[in-house]
Amino acid sequence: MACRIHTVWDPMGWLCLSSIVFVWSYNTWLLPKLIMMPHVAQGTLPAAVAAGYYVVAALCMAALVRASTADPGRVRQERDMSSEEFSVQSHVCQKCSIVKPARAHHCSRCGHCVRRMDHHCPWINNCVGEGNQWLFIQLCFYTQLLSTYALVVNFAHFYLLPPLADAQPDEFVFHYSVAMLRGAAVMGVMIFLGMAALFYGQVINILTDLTTIEKMKDPFLEVSAQVQRPWQESLAAVFGTRWKLLWLIPCRRGGVQGISARRYSYQAAV
Ligand SMILES: [Zn+2]
Ligand SMILES: [Zn+2]
Repeated sequence: MACRIHTVWDPMGWLCLSSIVFVWSYNTWLLPKLIMMPHVAQGTLPAAVAAGYYVVAALCMAALVRASTADPGRVRQERDMSSEEFSVQSHVCQKCSIVKPARAHHCSRCGHCVRRMDHHCPWINNCVGEGNQWLFIQLCFYTQLLSTYALVVNFAHFYLLPPLADAQPDEFVFHYSVAMLRGAAVMGVMIFLGMAALFYGQVINILTDLTTIEKMKDPFLEVSAQVQRPWQESLAAVFGTRWKLLWLIPCRRGGVQGISARRYSYQAAV
């Protein structure tokens, strides 16, 4: 597995990323402590439910760490480019003073050009580009799954499961548990809606072989874009493998299969 750590020195990005880590920590600590473990202890909730929550939370955090520290596809020098990318269309970045391949864009936040840049995401303090888009999609997916899991458990605690018999009224968390759980539910709904929108947008981008930046430059591009290949092939190119089970694994070496050049050949053929 590649171990190169990519960091972006952006205070605003660090602040956004820290807030995401805080929300994750809050929910990963709060729900098991207030709901799952007490119910497991009194036999009203299977232990597998609590274990499953920790597994999803771990996958979510792994995807976040990897998406924020993976190289999004920084353009370093001319020899990074294939001959196809270089010959069909190339530009010199005025800020980096290097020739950048087709579909690469300069990110002012990161301070360098990114291959097939989709957008800069402050929440992961990193660009989303050719090198880490698959991790970003995993993050959106697992965050939706985790927030749904949390909402279901929260709902079940109040409306489906029997009351906890041995709640400790003298504990701090007992007095504030309802407010804290309500807060967790509000966060869960907001995060789910935000991540669902991001996830849907990313999948559409991949299936239509467009990036967010390209669509912003030409809003009609998505309407006119035609899917060039089956959805499995489009996703396999981004995830770097045809094995669909591996699409769910963040702790592996990712890779792309020439997607920078792919759209390029499509444009040239039109
Ligand atoms: Zn640049
Ligand atoms: Zn960036």
